[in-house]
Amino acid sequence: MSISTELPSTHNHSNCINAALTMATQLCVERGVQLTSIRQQVLELIWTNHHAVKAYDLLERIKPLQSAAKPATIYRALDFLMAQGFIHRVESLNAFIGCCDLKTAHEQLLLICKQCKNVEERHADVVMQALVQELQNANFIAHSKAIEIQGICENCSQTLNTEIPA
Ligand SMILES: [Zn+2]
Ligand SMILES: [Zn+2]
Ligand SMILES: [Zn+2]
Repeated sequence: MSISTELPSTHNHSNCINAALTMATQLCVERGVQLTSIRQQVLELIWTNHHAVKAYDLLERIKPLQSAAKPATIYRALDFLMAQGFIHRVESLNAFIGCCDLKTAHEQLLLICKQCKNVEERHADVVMQALVQELQNANFIAHSKAIEIQGICENCSQTLNTEIPA
């Protein structure tokens, strides 16, 4: 089961949600950790779409489900989901996205669209290998190796192009 990497507007997003939740449930069983209802709800809310979500937006969204939810509740759930590799933190937005490949630990190249707010995760193995080499050259110990690029996604650039009169 894999999560769609097609353009966000052209895919069936319920497949993404189902795949992520099924995989997370399975991995929690394998690892002997608890996917509590609050953790599962936070994961599901992050997967509402491919946008990065801020913690306080998650708090707003979870209130109808868990009226007693506090910011600390959300942060604890986010810490758990990050530790399990189910979500990634988008540092430049101070927000979170669902991971598209829950099974393997990996670095990410995050393409952040300023127009539609979608964040596309790519593994970019060649880029990351080059980066590791560069870090070694610099004798620099990296704590995280996510690269975040802000710009306009393929989908939005096509829309922009069609809006320009011929
Ligand atoms: Zn999707
Ligand atoms: Zn990922
Ligand atoms: Zn876009």
